[in-house]
Amino acid sequence: MPDTLRPRILMIYTGGTIGMKENPVTKALEPFDFNHLLDNVPKLKKLDYDIHYHQFHTPIDSSDMNPRHWGQIVKVIEDNYLDYDGFVVLHGTDTMAYTASALSFMLQQLSKPVIITGSQLPIGEVRTDGEENLITAIQIAAAKDTDGSPMIREVAILFENYLWRGNRSTKRSADNFNAFRSNNYPELAKIGLGISFNKDVLWRSPVKDAPLGVHYNMDTNVTFLDLFPGIQENVVRHILNTPGLKAVVLKTYGAGNAPGEPWLFEAIREAVGKGIVVINITQCPNGLVDPKRYSTGLELAQTGVVPGHDLTSEAAITKLMYLVGRGMKPDEVRYYVQCNLCGEMS
Ligand code: ASP
Repeated sequence: MPDTLRPRILMIYTGGTIGMKENPVTKALEPFDFNHLLDNVPKLKKLDYDIHYHQFHTPIDSSDMNPRHWGQIVKVIEDNYLDYDGFVVLHGTDTMAYTASALSFMLQQLSKPVIITGSQLPIGEVRTDGEENLITAIQIAAAKDTDGSPMIREVAILFENYLWRGNRSTKRSADNFNAFRSNNYPELAKIGLGISFNKDVLWRSPVKDAPLGVHYNMDTNVTFLDLFPGIQENVVRHILNTPGLKAVVLKTYGAGNAPGEPWLFEAIREAVGKGIVVINITQCPNGLVDPKRYSTGLELAQTGVVPGHDLTSEAAITKLMYLVGRGMKPDEVRYYVQCNLCGEMS
C-alpha cells in the first residue's frame, strides 16, 4: 500500500560514470551493479521519500546509448507514470543532452518531472560529484509548487549548481563539475545552499490536464552536415546522396551563413527536391539563425533549407528523428521543425 504522504520517486539507472568502478586489471572504468550505488550513498536512506529503482538490464556507458534505449526509458516512465511524483534518470554525461532532448519529444504533455543526472567522478570516489547530484535530482523530482502540483513538468538536466531544460542543454566540459550549459535559455533552477527555482521560465504545457502521450518511433535516417572552410563538393554530395536519408541538420557559420559556392547551393537544392528536409542551425554555441541578415544565408534559404532558429545540435537532430518518425511528409516536417513543441526553441 503506497505511503501517500511521502513523495514517490522512481530512479531509472541506465549507466554512466555515476555507477562505474575501476576494473582492477585494466584500470578502465566499467559499469557495475546498481545495488553498489546504494551502498555508496547511505544518505539516500535518510531522505524521507519513497524511492524505488529500475535498472537497465545491462548498465551502459552513454556512448552506447541509442533510440532503442530511449524507448526503454520512455516505457518505464509510461508504465509507472501514475504511481510516482517524479522520475530521476541516472545517465552518462557524454550523450545526456541527446537523451534529454529525445525524451522531451517522446514524452508528450508531460506534467511530472523527469530529471536526468550523472557525475564526472564515480560515486565511490571520495571527491565524487555523484552523491550531491543524485540527492539534489531526487529533491527536485519531489518539489511541489504552491498549489501542490509538480514544480518541474518537463525533462531537465541537473548537474552541480544548475538545473537546465533538457532540450536546451549541451555538454560543455569533459572535466568541470558544472559540465552542462544552456546557451540560449536561462537555468530552471540555481543550486546553492538551497534550490532556487526560476519559476518564470519553467515549461507549462499549453494543453491543460491532458494525459501523458508517448511516441516511440524515432527515425534515424538523419545526419549532420557541418560546414568548414574548404569543404569539398564530393563530400557534400556523398552525404546528401546517402541512400534512405530523410533529413539533415546543416551546421552553418554565424547567423546561418554558408560559403557562396554555386555547387553547394545546387547540391542542397537537389537534395531538397528529392524530399530530404534540410534545417539550418548555427555552429555558434549562442545565438540563432537569421537567414535574412546576410546574402549567403538568404541564398541558402532560397534552396529550400528551413531555419532551425536557436535549436541546439542535440535538439535539432532528435526533433528530426521524432518528426520523421511520426511519418510526416517533408512539408509537414519543415513546418513543425519551426514550431516550438516543448520549449526547445525561442
Ligand atoms: N563515458 C561516460 C558516459 O557518458 C562519461 C560519464 O558518465 O560522464 O557514460
